[in-house]
Amino acid sequence: MAQAKKIILLGATGSIGTSTLKLLRAYPNDFQLVAVSAHKNADALQSICQEFQVPTAILTDETAYLKAQSESRFQSPTQLHCGFEGIDECLKRQSADMAIIAIVGACGLQPTLTAIEQGMDIALANKESLVLGGSFLLDAARNHQARILPIDSEHNAIFQCLEGYTKKQIASITLTASGGALRNHPIGHLKNISPEEACQHPNWSMGRKITIDSSTMANKGLELIEARWLFDLSPEQLKVVIHPQSIVHSFVHWIDGSTLAQLSPPSMSFAIQHCLYYPDKKPSIQKGLDFEKAMQLEFSPPDFNRYPCLELAYEALKLNSNGIGGAIFNAANEVAVERFIAEDIAFTDIPKLIEQALSEPYGSDSISLEYLKNLDAEIRLKTKAYKLN
Ligand code: NDP
Ligand code: MG
Repeated sequence: MAQAKKIILLGATGSIGTSTLKLLRAYPNDFQLVAVSAHKNADALQSICQEFQVPTAILTDETAYLKAQSESRFQSPTQLHCGFEGIDECLKRQSADMAIIAIVGACGLQPTLTAIEQGMDIALANKESLVLGGSFLLDAARNHQARILPIDSEHNAIFQCLEGYTKKQIASITLTASGGALRNHPIGHLKNISPEEACQHPNWSMGRKITIDSSTMANKGLELIEARWLFDLSPEQLKVVIHPQSIVHSFVHWIDGSTLAQLSPPSMSFAIQHCLYYPDKKPSIQKGLDFEKAMQLEFSPPDFNRYPCLELAYEALKLNSNGIGGAIFNAANEVAVERFIAEDIAFTDIPKLIEQALSEPYGSDSISLEYLKNLDAEIRLKTKAYKLN
């Protein structure tokens, strides 16, 4: 029998983390969970540690860590650690086979880089780290021979379609997008949308931030940038189509005129399972598509008037060849979403803040982790202070 794969799961208490744990529960002999992290949710993290007998747990929020320590919440065999230093040490110390990065936000960059430097497989859900880190992260992956396996369903679909082909055979790719919670809402009424309304997704059950990003389609913008780096394509080769059923997860168009797609029901379980077992396959824990039942698949081009964030993502892609546009787009969007959730700005102001950030004169020739972190912090500070007319 093959040895169990040693897995580090960062962001274990989130939506992707929970879906991953369902798979690990279903296949207990194939995987061993050696470390898990959460930000503040000590209760959920503790119960994961107890169930899976995890040796290392990390709470990245210091207050949550100190509270859990003072209450001796985590019992043997689990050792509790604190912060991103705790994550870094764990990635370096544990000789894991795979790190699943399911943390939300740009703070995923540092752990992704550290995991890459250990040469382990990276199952990457945290798209923000690729959008921010771009060529810098991929260079590191090449240098350390670390495989990046995309969990994001569209990129996972493209990854699957590309197996056995070379880059010069690709004409373009099309990412599918559900259109989010507000795809049929009158455009004139969008300015009155509340955070709760923007948080309802028609097909996917996901974390709060990515659900709002789906409503604005900033999520698809981030995914365009993610695809640009993962598959080394030009902005002109990257397209988006609205597909309300979320069954086709993306298309690859070949230079010979044919198109390949990957299909599965709208559940992240399929993409996560693909990464967990790659390049092997195991029976799914969920039912696949059933063509015995009638099914309709629809496709239509996105309207930039409804989704200005999408157009801004294309601008960000073209802004700077070394990827700074992605960093600006991502940081400004995260702050804009926070300001929208705090009811400080309207739903329709989110793209206005991103546009303002993209008009700032940032730029650099050489990119380092330090540079990216400082750039990210500077954009955030400015976007928090932007006034709207
Ligand atoms: P959730 O908000 O559901 O979960 C986020 C996880 O990260 C939780 O474990 C949370 O811990 C932890 N976390 C939150 N803030 C921080 C922080 N500041 N530092 C460290 N850890 C933190 O997110 P999702 O699971 O929806 O998304 C995770 C990533 O996967 C995102 O990058 C998203 O874009 C991407 N993704 C998600 C998809 C989905 O279907 N959900 C699909 C494709 C990609 P705690 O519980 O303690 O707050
Ligand atoms: Mg996606």
